[in-house]
Amino acid sequence: MDNITTITEMLSEEIEQELAEEHTLTDIEQVTRRLLKEIGRQAVAMVVNSKEPYPEPEVPCGKCGQRMPYVRRRPAQLRTLFGQMKVKRAYYLCPSCQRGCCPLDRQLGLRPNGISAELERLAGMTGALLPFGKGRDLFESLALVSLCDHTLDKATQAYGTAAMQREQEWLTVAHDEEELQRRKREVRRPCRLYGAVDATKVHTRGVDEHPWRDLKVGAWFEARGQPPKKPDGEWRIQAEKIHYFADICPAAEFGSLMWASGVQQDAQLAQELVILGDGAEWIWNLVDEHFPQAIQILDWFHATEYLMPVAKASYSSEKEQKDWVARTKQWLWDGMVDEVIAHCLELVRREDSSDPAFVAARYFDQNRQRMNYPKYRRNGYQIGSGTIESAAKQIGTMRMKVAGAIWNEDSARKVAKARAAYLSEEWDELAAYRALPIAA
Ligand SMILES: [Zn+2]
Repeated sequence: MDNITTITEMLSEEIEQELAEEHTLTDIEQVTRRLLKEIGRQAVAMVVNSKEPYPEPEVPCGKCGQRMPYVRRRPAQLRTLFGQMKVKRAYYLCPSCQRGCCPLDRQLGLRPNGISAELERLAGMTGALLPFGKGRDLFESLALVSLCDHTLDKATQAYGTAAMQREQEWLTVAHDEEELQRRKREVRRPCRLYGAVDATKVHTRGVDEHPWRDLKVGAWFEARGQPPKKPDGEWRIQAEKIHYFADICPAAEFGSLMWASGVQQDAQLAQELVILGDGAEWIWNLVDEHFPQAIQILDWFHATEYLMPVAKASYSSEKEQKDWVARTKQWLWDGMVDEVIAHCLELVRREDSSDPAFVAARYFDQNRQRMNYPKYRRNGYQIGSGTIESAAKQIGTMRMKVAGAIWNEDSARKVAKARAAYLSEEWDELAAYRALPIAA
C-alpha cells in the first residue's frame, strides 16, 4: 500500500469520528476540509523544521564576510495558506558587525512574522478583485484562513508596488534606442493592434479641496469579429490579449506609461494601430505625441452617449426622444456628422454653453476627424471598446468606486495597478517579483 492510501484510510477514520450520527455530504466535505487544513499546517511546519537537522557551526556574514558562529535555533511565527505555525531556524550572529541572520529564511523565502508569499499572492488577488470587507469574507470561506482588512490591503498594495517596479523596467526599455531598433529588426510586427484610453474619478482623501482625482486607464488588445451591421445590432467583440495600465497622475506622465506599456506590446511596430478614446483632448494629445501613426477613433459608445440628454431636453414624450436618438445614431453610423451637428445646433434652447444640444454639437465638432464610422466599418475596425468593457469601468468603477470609499491617493494608485495586472492575467508574473528572496 502506498503512503497516500495509508493516509487516506487514516483520514477517513478520523472524519468518521468527527461526524455526528446524522450527517450530509456537506458535513463530510466541511469536516474533511478542516482536517486537511490542520494536517497541512502541521506538515508544512514539520517540513520546514526538518530542513536543518545539523546546522553548520558557522556561515560567512553576508555583510562583512567574517565567519558567523551558530547561536541557537530561533523561533518564528509563519502565517501561511494553512494557517499560523511556529517554526525554528538556525540563527547566526556576526561578532564583527553584530548582524544576525537565519540562512533558512533566505533559502526558503520565509517571512518571519509576516504572511507567506503564497498567502500574499492569493490575498492580493482577492484584494485586487473585491473591496476589502467582501474580499475578506470570500477569502475566509474559500481558504479557511481569516485575514483582517489591513492584511488584504497590504498584500494588494505590495502587488501594486511590484507593478510599479515593473513599469519602471518598461520605461527603461521604452527609452532604450538600441533595444527599440533591435525589436524593429527582430520582432514579428502585430497586424492590427488596438489601444483604448479612458478616465474615471476616484474619491481621494486630498489635502486640497479637490478630492476627486482622475484615474486614467488604458488597454491594449487584439480583437476579432466585426462591428454589427446596424448601430443597435449585437456587438460581438472578441478581445484577446488585453493588457491594462492605470495611474493617477498628470497626462504627460500617463503618456510615458502609455508609451512604455505600448512598447511591451510592440504597438509602435503594429502594421495597423487603432486607438479608441472618448473625446477628452488630453487623450488625443498623448496619441499624437507617442503614436502619431495611429488611426484615431472616437469610441462609438462615448459618442452616442451625448444624444439622449439632447433628446430629453428637446422632446417631452419618451417615444419622440427614442425616435430622435435612433435616427441621429443612424446618421452618425452613416458618417453624417455635419448633419448631426447642424441638427443639434437647431435644438439649442438655452443661451449658455451647458445646453446639452450645444455640448453635443461642440463635442462632435471637435472630434469630427475621428468619426468616419462608415470608413472604419469598411476596414473592419472595432469602433467601440464597449464590449471589452471600458477600461476605466474595469479598473475604476467596479473596484474603486465602492459606495463611500475614500482613498488615500497612494493606495488608490497601487490597488488600480494591481487590478490592472490581475485583469491582464499577469498576476503570476508579479508574484515572481514578490517572491524574490529577502536580502540576507
Ligand atoms: Zn558581519
